[in-house]
Amino acid sequence: SSRIVAIVGRPNVGKSTMFNRLIEQRKAIVNETAGVTRDRNYGKGEWNGIEFSVIDTGGYVVNSDDIFESEINKQVHLAIDEADVITFVVDVESGITDLDDAIASILRKSGKKVILVVNKVDNHSRIPDAQEFYGLGLGEIYCISSMTGSGTGDMLDALVELF
Ligand code: GDP
Ligand code: MG
Repeated sequence: SSRIVAIVGRPNVGKSTMFNRLIEQRKAIVNETAGVTRDRNYGKGEWNGIEFSVIDTGGYVVNSDDIFESEINKQVHLAIDEADVITFVVDVESGITDLDDAIASILRKSGKKVILVVNKVDNHSRIPDAQEFYGLGLGEIYCISSMTGSGTGDMLDALVELF
């Protein structure tokens, strides 16, 4: 398998922070594929001896809510086409938003393997708030803090199991 992991989610949930952590910890090189897709970053990660490619999506500038939603839909569909596993990142600080619901619906219909990542769980006091994300209907939740790195090990254990 080619082992391609895509990171999707609405803006500001911490996708790029997670991306940097996944590749930085494995001391991999980020390849900025200039001229190909300016709105995506590609990198390499490794966990328990298993190497994989990571795509960070959604680094674009948005001007209106319409562009916003259609751009995100585009990125989600690209990820479904390209990736073996999709990490769908949501934000415990905001809870479930309409856009989260919309993305979850697309992902459920796709039948793609999804890891649901609840980010910004910086300390244990935030774990109760994270439970609502079971309501997205995507199975298990993986609570992490991309800022501190907490929880990323368990998330990666589950991720590499899906290849
Ligand atoms: P993206 O738009 O989804 O790529 O989100 P970014 O990675 O750019 O992060 C958006 C904001 O969330 C930034 O201010 C980050 O510092 C912050 N952030 C990202 N991860 C965490 C986290 O685990 N905990 C907290 N408290 N903030 C975070
Ligand atoms: Mg980003």
